[in-house]
Amino acid sequence: MAKRLHHQINGRAEPGNSGRFGDVYNPATGEKAAEVPFASADDARAAIAAAAAAFPDWAATPPVVRARVMFRFKALIEERMEDLKHLVTAEHGKVLSDAQGSITRGLEVVEFACGIPHLLKGEFSENVGSGIDSFSMRQPLGVCAGITPFNFPAMVPMWMFPLAIACGNTFVLKPSEKVPSAALMLADLLQEAGCPDGVFNVVNGDKEAVDVLLTDPRVAAVSFVGSTPIAEYVYTTGTAHGKRVQALGGAKNHMVVLPDADMEQATDALMGAAYGSAGERCMAISVAVAVGDAGDALRERLIPKVQALKVGPGTDPEAEMGPLVTQAHLDRVRGYVDLGVEEGADLAVDGRDLTLQGYEGGYFLGGCLFDHVKPEMRIYREEIFGPVLSMVRSDDYENALELVNAHPFGNGTAIFTRDGDAARTFANRAQIGMVGVNVPIPVPMAFHSFGGWKRSLFGDHAVHGPDGVHFYTKLKTVTSRWPTGIRAGADYVMPTMK
Ligand code: NAD
Repeated sequence: MAKRLHHQINGRAEPGNSGRFGDVYNPATGEKAAEVPFASADDARAAIAAAAAAFPDWAATPPVVRARVMFRFKALIEERMEDLKHLVTAEHGKVLSDAQGSITRGLEVVEFACGIPHLLKGEFSENVGSGIDSFSMRQPLGVCAGITPFNFPAMVPMWMFPLAIACGNTFVLKPSEKVPSAALMLADLLQEAGCPDGVFNVVNGDKEAVDVLLTDPRVAAVSFVGSTPIAEYVYTTGTAHGKRVQALGGAKNHMVVLPDADMEQATDALMGAAYGSAGERCMAISVAVAVGDAGDALRERLIPKVQALKVGPGTDPEAEMGPLVTQAHLDRVRGYVDLGVEEGADLAVDGRDLTLQGYEGGYFLGGCLFDHVKPEMRIYREEIFGPVLSMVRSDDYENALELVNAHPFGNGTAIFTRDGDAARTFANRAQIGMVGVNVPIPVPMAFHSFGGWKRSLFGDHAVHGPDGVHFYTKLKTVTSRWPTGIRAGADYVMPTMK
């Protein structure tokens, strides 16, 4: 019998009242692992009500006390890392070492949030006018909501709620219905860390719950990470309802390889960045732009490595790449490989026939490599989100940079070269939010902010780091004087400071 999951509202496990459920699978075997309740609009409203009721006390709790909850939360995640990473692998499929790496990147946001008393400090100017001082402060918004994708069951929620909560907000998380268990475990750990009931709530489900979070007037802000069409919908709907919204979308990250690059290094970088986590990363490299002679040099090195990729269940310590998340996603990615062949791209490595003994029901696809991909092909224009790397040949550097800049997505990009001037110019001119120089996946650390440009992010704030603190707080500036002596009477002109 598959276990039945729940929502977490006001510190309690709640079954929900919709009567609707989704199936959660073990992607390595294809077996149904759990049933997750899909929240009704009323379930979602109950979570918002709990968060709204918890807000005044939590906002009034000194930041240093909120930080202590984060310190305990950090320690608990470290203590329970084994369980948490197994949960991520069990529902997502990624290999355990990668699951642990992703949780660690989320944990780093918790560590950043531990410094919240310092991060919330405002500015102060003495004597902005005679006897007048001015100071600023950052105050929490109220109830914040997070809606997260399947590919990072723990990390992406942790991009959001630790900082939101440390800033004094309360939170309702709607995790991906494909991988709900990690979020529920994080809710338990946060409670164990001393987070009061109602401060962090989890509602599982689909559009019905999301639409309540986007429209209910008690929600002040929404953080979203997922595909671009849904990101755009979340942004337009949420902002039309007066909310602050940051909505991170899809990607098609290019890695430009110049002929002077160290080809062994560039090949290894492409392998990890294209096939790690079966390509289900928003910062995965899905396009290699090979300039001049780099094309043949890369092809010759990539083919044997892609063919030798060790694909297996995420729990196999030898596996480099696990299965895709669901049968539907496997069909979609395989469909793109079929399409690439129809479009005339050269399928240099075909991973479609892979089967694993003992795991015939798993959602496995071997690594695929396309060469001579053209910008007009759909496999170049659209996000595939699987273990499929497309190589585009480019005559020169300018043309390579133009490809990067003309693409509608703008999450990440990288350049591999030994030429400092070329790299510096690239970093300056790339119309992309995150740029790597000889670093294939340039994900900023928690104390910097993560965000793309163009159709990879809707809204004005990136996540975590300084932008995260700004997103989850409102700025207030106080101008203050304590007059003594004679009153000067009313002033009818615009005050200027003398
Ligand atoms: P998705 O857009 O299908 O789902 C994301 C969330 O939105 C889920 O919680 C889902 O339940 C909800 N949702 C789905 N359809 C909805 C609808 N019609 N109305 C309201 N809510 C809806 O994304 P996914 O398949 O879970 O995740 C993969 C995508 O996420 C990829 O496009 C990937 O690039 C992107 N992603 C982006 C980043 C980033 O930082 N930019 C990070 C991780 C993933």
